[in-house]
Amino acid sequence: MSASQAVEVLRQHLIDPEICIRCNTCEETCPAHAISHDSRNYVVDAAKCNFCNDCISPCPTGAIDSWRQVDKAKPYALVEQLAWDSLPAQTEVDDPLMSPVTFALAGNRLITIRYHEPKAFKTFPLRAEKVATGCTSGDTILIGLLEAIVDRLADILERAGRDVEAISRDIFEARSTKASKRNRDFQELLKGIGRKEDLASSVRDSLISLQRLAGFLAHVAAQAKMSKDVRARIKTLSRDVLSLADHATFLSQKISFLLDATLGMISIEQNAIIKIFSVAAVIFLPPTLVASIYGMNFDIIPELKWEFGYPFAIGLMVVSAILPFWYFRRRGWL
Ligand code: SF4
Ligand code: SF4
Repeated sequence: MSASQAVEVLRQHLIDPEICIRCNTCEETCPAHAISHDSRNYVVDAAKCNFCNDCISPCPTGAIDSWRQVDKAKPYALVEQLAWDSLPAQTEVDDPLMSPVTFALAGNRLITIRYHEPKAFKTFPLRAEKVATGCTSGDTILIGLLEAIVDRLADILERAGRDVEAISRDIFEARSTKASKRNRDFQELLKGIGRKEDLASSVRDSLISLQRLAGFLAHVAAQAKMSKDVRARIKTLSRDVLSLADHATFLSQKISFLLDATLGMISIEQNAIIKIFSVAAVIFLPPTLVASIYGMNFDIIPELKWEFGYPFAIGLMVVSAILPFWYFRRRGWL
């Protein structure tokens, strides 16, 4: 489907596989039999779920209280959900919110100062309860949290990369048929490109802060003679941040290229339309020249005595104005 088409949004009910403890409570509770599972994941069938919310409060972990806004025509299928290790990042209908977080590490205590609830902060404690993350002290909790933030940024970048691919296909591939040419909407494409560039810049900013933080942590860990394992985790974190920053830069460059390509396409399209208008003007030039020389200077003009000549002439003028307008609209030139 073209990016220009209006998308009907569905708030799809999902289960977070990272938090779910596979207790089966939701499946037993659901009156619509919308929940099923395999040996790996619990999943919600978008076609059956009626949003009654009966499953939300019995869930002991909150894994069932997960939602994603998706194209109503393309909800996440059961096979897709069954293969997930974690929930996919939200699409552009709900762009991630970036805001500063301050970490204060004093002895064995970690304090965070923040003004919203980032996803990583919500999922990390639940995951830490379930899986052994080695969080036994303030510094290991800080590292675990930073790892969760980096994972989240990686998800966001992955989703942004897929969206950029879709925009790229929309620009370069579906251009051959007349119908696709009519359907394209450069304004929407430019808006989409702008949103992705905003997202990539925000992720890059976050990664630069994380890079500085990881550098500082490595220094502190060396000075405080922290365990080998902690220092290895900081090193891996630092490497992950670096490679994600590279990927964010690559994505930004690709977005800039797409912006240039879209502007080039707009220019080509405008030139093609102006060419058509110029040719039409040249075609009508000789008849106009003949009419301007001879005009109505004839003794016998049949319509002069015709009873309906005047309304016919007015009607003809209106139709001759409407017809080109209709044709230009139909071709997408106006
Ligand atoms: S009730 Fe919650 S934790 Fe239990 S299986 Fe369902 S989603 Fe998972
Ligand atoms: S919201 Fe209702 S229908 Fe949907 S999965 Fe939960 S219990 Fe089932």
